[in-house]
Amino acid sequence: MAQPTPNAFDADYLLVGGGLQNGLILLALAARKPNASVLLLEQGEVIGGNHIWSFQAQDLPETALDWARPIIEYEWPGYQLYFDDSARWVQGAYRSLSSEHLHRLVMDAAAGSERIDVRLGTAVSGVDGHSVGLADGTRLRARVVVDARGPEAARPMGGGRFSGGYQKFVGLECRLTTPTHLTAPILMDSRCTQRDGFRFHYVLPFAPDRVLIEDTYFSNAPDLDVDALRRDIVAEAPRLGLQVAEVLRTEVGVLPMPAWSHFRAPDASPVTGGYAGGWFNPGTGYSLAAAARLAEHLSAVPVADTFGPEWHRLTRGMRIQSHFLAFLNLLMFGFFHGAKRRRLMERFYMVSDPVIHRFFAMRNNPIDMWRIMYVGAPWTPKGWAKRAERPVEVQTAASSAE
Ligand SMILES: Cc1cc2nc3c(=O)[nH]c(=O)nc-3n(C[C@H](O)[C@H](O)[C@H](O)COP(=O)(O)OP(=O)(O)OC[C@H]3O[C@@H](n4cnc5c(N)ncnc54)[C@H](O)[C@@H]3O)c2cc1C
Repeated sequence: MAQPTPNAFDADYLLVGGGLQNGLILLALAARKPNASVLLLEQGEVIGGNHIWSFQAQDLPETALDWARPIIEYEWPGYQLYFDDSARWVQGAYRSLSSEHLHRLVMDAAAGSERIDVRLGTAVSGVDGHSVGLADGTRLRARVVVDARGPEAARPMGGGRFSGGYQKFVGLECRLTTPTHLTAPILMDSRCTQRDGFRFHYVLPFAPDRVLIEDTYFSNAPDLDVDALRRDIVAEAPRLGLQVAEVLRTEVGVLPMPAWSHFRAPDASPVTGGYAGGWFNPGTGYSLAAAARLAEHLSAVPVADTFGPEWHRLTRGMRIQSHFLAFLNLLMFGFFHGAKRRRLMERFYMVSDPVIHRFFAMRNNPIDMWRIMYVGAPWTPKGWAKRAERPVEVQTAASSAE
């Protein structure tokens, strides 16, 4: 396709969709390329929707912290896991940010620069090469267009046993009646009634009297009875030592965990970023690590070199990781059901902390891949289980008051 002449461009970077992906890209460009012109178009009235995004130690590499540090709204030194027969602590920063926080950062960046323009309430009707069409017929052009219109714009996963599954959850941000003793997240507590695949609770303690409690499933089906799960979370919270006084906010997620990689990375504009382009971890359904890597790339290379050698290195690595992680979904959702899936998850978390961090960050090396396959395999020696610590009882509010 012929490139428009430079003076025909409305911006250097045109970001379609104001979600996690383009929010991160805008922040990275604002910090690293203050002279670049950036235009972000979002159909809604806020950036980022209604989410809490969590991420692990290596999801934001050290090299990205110069621009990405402000996104860290909450930080803990690690997290805890509980299974029926074992428990463990994983050491390494665990962090979260809310949509509201991302919205504030993006709007502040736009307010602080004449080169950055954020247009809310602006729906895009089509994207083609360097050009974007708006619903009112306006056409805008940019040197690089990043189309990140989110999961709705992603390729459908298909159906059947070998298409993968879902990480689905209902999360309640709650005010507690009594302060919690928790000072770090519980990433998984599967000591609950098992149903609909592998089920566990996830807890983020934002403050002594405010937590997020999620009821999560690694399931083959996307259906979710939100009202029933809301009631279950409140009823089961005391098992986690949490007494809910008030539900402040509800979030619902059905994150596809496909058995086949959706990663797409053509060598020309538009870049399909975020979930729609497969810039997410198929093994977790989470996308911050991959989204940050795309933001890091776009802010590190000159706009003319966007699709140069660094791009090929990045996308080749992402493609390998994405295929490997999707293959794990093929195995888990295709062959491990009921108690087998629970056991598989427990075995996975026997690997060392660095292997876990690289798994989440989509930076598995060949030895990690072998280890993950090995601990997940049914022929794993039982002796490996010895590496898991014994469960540490979660202190209940009642017991801590004794
Ligand atoms: C409840 C929930 C919790 C999650 N938790 C985590 C987590 O803890 N960690 C993690 O890494 N991932 C998490 N994920 C997954 C990840 O957050 C999402 O996949 C991520 O938001 C994807 O980023 P994105 O920018 O591709 O899409 P989105 O963040 O969904 O953004 C897409 C944006 O594009 C806009 N848009 C769509 N169409 C148009 C159009 N035609 N014109 C203009 N704008 C348009 C939308 O309004 C939206 O704002 C979670 C997802 C959900 C649903």
